[in-house]
Amino acid sequence: EVRVRFAPSPTGALHIGGVRTALYNYLFAKKMGGKFLLRIEDTDQTRFVPGAEEYIKESLEWLGIAPEESPWNPGDCGPYRQSERKPMYMQYAMDLVEKGHAYYAFDTSEELEAMRERLTAARVVSPQYNSITRTQMKNSLTLSAEEVKTRLESGDPYVIRVKIPRNEEVRLNDMIRGWVLVNSGTLDDKVLMKSDGMPTYHLANIVDDHLMGITHVIRGEEWLPSAPLHVLLYKYFGWEDTMPQFAHLPLLLKPDGNGKLSKRDGDKLGFPVFPLNWVDPFSGEKASGFREQGYLPDAFLNFLAFLGWNPGDERELFTLEELVEAFSVERIGKSGTKFDIAKAKWYNEQYLRAKPNSELIDFLLADANADGFEVPGDKADAIVNLVKGRMTFPADLWEESKFVVSAPTKFDMDIAAKKWNSDAANLLGNYAAALDAFGGTFDAATAKSVLESSAETEGIKLGKVMQAVRLAVTGSGAGPDLMEVFAILGTAEVAKRIRFALS
Ligand code: GLU
Repeated sequence: EVRVRFAPSPTGALHIGGVRTALYNYLFAKKMGGKFLLRIEDTDQTRFVPGAEEYIKESLEWLGIAPEESPWNPGDCGPYRQSERKPMYMQYAMDLVEKGHAYYAFDTSEELEAMRERLTAARVVSPQYNSITRTQMKNSLTLSAEEVKTRLESGDPYVIRVKIPRNEEVRLNDMIRGWVLVNSGTLDDKVLMKSDGMPTYHLANIVDDHLMGITHVIRGEEWLPSAPLHVLLYKYFGWEDTMPQFAHLPLLLKPDGNGKLSKRDGDKLGFPVFPLNWVDPFSGEKASGFREQGYLPDAFLNFLAFLGWNPGDERELFTLEELVEAFSVERIGKSGTKFDIAKAKWYNEQYLRAKPNSELIDFLLADANADGFEVPGDKADAIVNLVKGRMTFPADLWEESKFVVSAPTKFDMDIAAKKWNSDAANLLGNYAAALDAFGGTFDAATAKSVLESSAETEGIKLGKVMQAVRLAVTGSGAGPDLMEVFAILGTAEVAKRIRFALS
């Protein structure tokens, strides 16, 4: 059975790249008839951020891709938080020590720093604790068995490091990148167990993936450099036969393609990079989310799925079920994907405009009420029809139509300066009188023909004064179809607004 996991660390708001990783794991699991798990990787307690775990949960639930096994909904291989699994890890580290694939190291941070300085002075580009440098450090490979024993018994702080061989080829067959070959000489003796008795990411991640029966590891490309170490750990534990297959997802790039999209890019570039609003509990700093900006979850999901994957044909609109159906790891691209907010908006428009008017009316009425206005029940449907072609977000419905319910008291003075003239005033005066004579309601075509005959009477070219007419009735120089607006307002209201503008 296919089992995949999303393994976030609760170190802040979940970034859009993380949400995409979760989505691809979800899609793959469903496509293969398998299970999607979530494990909280919180072994680094110094980076723990309150609220981050709840944020992850809420984000996935908003998108409808909640995991089947998680800390909130545990299956058979819990706990699903690494901090709660703490007692399990030491035995695995010890197993590696006994097999000779890991060792104790007693170096103080001063000693480690001194080593780095020595190597830097000797022009070593990236100083590492490895097969060469470990020979000069304080560890169970250099100290006598006696001394190691004494140190351990007297409670000296220590870490356990993996013993990386000096010159060995490590290979893995990534589902997206194909064969990746690395010489072990480029890897360092990573810490597996920290002095506080907590495992590091590397140890906990491998042990947990094994114990949780994970068959495929789908994660961001930033983890590719760690993969050779992970392959070695599977080998040292003797778990090669059940080692998961790896798929490293291409990076999400800034809109200009210049570098990785980072958590800090969001509001700076004028769009969110988080699914939900977030307030940092330490700094109080705020970041905006797609949900609060008015993105619909299904539109956002569809957009996200296409950030690095495509179905291989022209189709772009997919429900979650259709994505599951169409998804395949083979169709995930190898190169980074530029983040294009215009595309996100396009998706939102498609999904929003496909909604029945009844739902759009709910958005309109809610926003109008929140703003202190009442939309007449018999006009809501016509108003929605009037502006729905202009909306990207639900809030645009009210934003774009507020002037219908609330007559303008102020006018766009820039437009007035350019477009207002005696022709416009003469035409409007004539039109207001014609509307009085016509009376009652009218449709857009009639509104227009009445206006045309006023223009004819006054000997004025309508095209030249149309913007002034719009300004008088709506207060601004642009907006939805004006004759439709007149039809919704009715003759009396249009005449009244014109007289106010003329006064
Ligand atoms: N905890 C890691 C992260 O925050 C998980 C990486 C992995 O999936 O192995 O991204």
